[in-house]
Amino acid sequence: MADALEQYDPQIYELIRQEQARQSGSIRLIPSENYVSKAVMLASASCLTNKYAEGYPGRRYYEGQQVTDLIERMAQERVKKIFKADHANIQPYSGSIANWAAYLALVNPGDTIMGLSLPHGGHLTHGWKVSVTSRIFSSVQYTVNPDTGRFDYDKIEQLAKKHKPRIIISGATAYPREIDFEIFGQIAKDVGAYHVSDIAHIAGLVVAGIHKSPVPYADIVSTTSHKTLRGPRGGMLLCRKEHAENVDKAVFPGLQGGPHMHTLTAIAVAMAEADTPEFVAYAKQIVKNAKALAEKLLEYGFNLVSGGTDNHLILIDLRNRNVSGKKVAKALDRARIVTNYNTTPLDPAHPSDPSGLRMGTPAMTTRGMKEQEAEQIATFIRRVVENIGNESVIEEVAKDVLLLSSQFPVPEHFIIPNKNNVAAQ
Ligand SMILES: *Cc1c(COP(=O)(O)O)cnc(C)c1O
Repeated sequence: MADALEQYDPQIYELIRQEQARQSGSIRLIPSENYVSKAVMLASASCLTNKYAEGYPGRRYYEGQQVTDLIERMAQERVKKIFKADHANIQPYSGSIANWAAYLALVNPGDTIMGLSLPHGGHLTHGWKVSVTSRIFSSVQYTVNPDTGRFDYDKIEQLAKKHKPRIIISGATAYPREIDFEIFGQIAKDVGAYHVSDIAHIAGLVVAGIHKSPVPYADIVSTTSHKTLRGPRGGMLLCRKEHAENVDKAVFPGLQGGPHMHTLTAIAVAMAEADTPEFVAYAKQIVKNAKALAEKLLEYGFNLVSGGTDNHLILIDLRNRNVSGKKVAKALDRARIVTNYNTTPLDPAHPSDPSGLRMGTPAMTTRGMKEQEAEQIATFIRRVVENIGNESVIEEVAKDVLLLSSQFPVPEHFIIPNKNNVAAQ
């Protein structure tokens, strides 16, 4: 396949090769990113991309579904098994659309939804002001306690009692601590709201039994397939039988047309991978690595939101370092360490140049890195932050990162041979 691409479109072939070199020659700490296996990559690049399959298995609007029905059913069964859910819809094109479908399955436009505010770790689609979710629905936002960086469940309950939302959303995109989904479920019940839980980031930890699953406590659980779960890019919804029909209708025909069958196929493969002792060990190592990285950073005088981590991600508050998150993220990128700048609770800075830096360990852990490497990465980060503006030090760090990266090759994915042996970047 790679040879055919090289012949047909050498320009795009070359850019893919460069991206592959970037992914293997850097330490990727963006907590929502990962490396998929070769099997997932192959399924995702298969002929299933050619097939339209509007509808659901046994109820399609196009013929020729002899194989697609089998694949989608297989994927559904695997998802239901690993999440212990009654019903699974794996057609959402992404986590964002999955959230839309969850809301529309339960309530009407104009109804009130309540989610975590974005600067406090929530996702855009949880009702943040620049997301259309805040215009189609009436949005109430809860926050973390700025002193502890953690949820104050009593405050969340008070807010829910005051505003009586129809949906309460639990889950986050930048919250380093374990979330008590049972309490969220109880609060929702007390105020007569539905509970939608969005585990896009931590799905892999939930499947591995490291974090408690929201499935027993939520009306609908929404997730992505591509973060800690290590599948192709996609979205999924899990729910009890009572919501199954509404969920399916909300996804198709409510929001989407034909599902991306190549993605569903790759999700099926990834779910088989997630249902193994190796995946459980992988997920445990993700958390061990995050804790090791967090501890070293604390030792080096960094402030971490909530003081540490229970999961795969860390949020550094750089205010005591007098340097912005963006500046550090850009310098780290030049040193081949890829993170993202992020707002922190009560960040006085503008979201375009906030005081926080978000990082996570799912991708480095896939490469086989352990606590020792996590600690080494902390030393790289320290060197970069202490030498902002000193490009020769940053170049040295980049060399050290490349050396470390070369000892942990990216697991054999879609191998694109580098015939000219051109160095990356
Ligand atoms: C990543 C994320 C999403 C959205 O996923 P996309 O696939 O990027 O649309 C939704 N919710 C949370 C909490 C996320 O972290």
